[in-house]
Amino acid sequence: MNFGPHLLIVGRQGSGKGTQAELLAHHFGINHLSTGKFFRDSAAVGAPAGLDAKAFIDRGELVPDPIVIAVVEERFQNPEEIRTGFILDGFPRNARQAAELDRILVANPIDLVIDLKVPEHVCVARMVERGRDDDTEEGIRRRLFLYDAETAPLLDGYRLRGIVATVEGVGDPDDICKRLIDVVEERVSRLDADLH
Ligand code: AMP
Repeated sequence: MNFGPHLLIVGRQGSGKGTQAELLAHHFGINHLSTGKFFRDSAAVGAPAGLDAKAFIDRGELVPDPIVIAVVEERFQNPEEIRTGFILDGFPRNARQAAELDRILVANPIDLVIDLKVPEHVCVARMVERGRDDDTEEGIRRRLFLYDAETAPLLDGYRLRGIVATVEGVGDPDDICKRLIDVVEERVSRLDADLH
């Protein structure tokens, strides 16, 4: 593969997807695009997009689609973002965002969707421990509900394309990372073989 892989990681809040996305980005030398982190960083410096998003985030609600889609669209307007390769973390979260992502990426589709599987009670325990502003009892419950209702069903569509790898996300973070690296490498070598 001449260019970096186009990855997407899907998992419940508290599954460790942010941590793993960061590790994978570092390992493969690709960009880590986390919409949640973008909004938190923007709010921290008082940027309008972040402040608008914060009210939704703190309640455990999804930020409205037009705001999130504009953020992702802007990032991908830079061709380097796609050339270098990327791992998208936290986007798409519903059917509309998934359709918009297909539109935005047209000629540069996702190579692999990582389904990071972690049971709900483990995610809840991790969120309580990390104690982010949005990790209130109500916020946690709401986000887990939205994940099952709106985000997890997206995996069915990606499965039909044959691009989903399910990885157990419980255990030592370094072991999990090794498993993830293996599935990405396997996918990349298959894509390379298809090209030759
Ligand atoms: P995360 O860092 O992925 O856990 O995201 C933290 C919060 O940011 C979420 O609970 C949402 O409120 C918001 N957020 C992040 N990504 C999205 C998205 N794709 N669509 C809507 N809201 C999002």
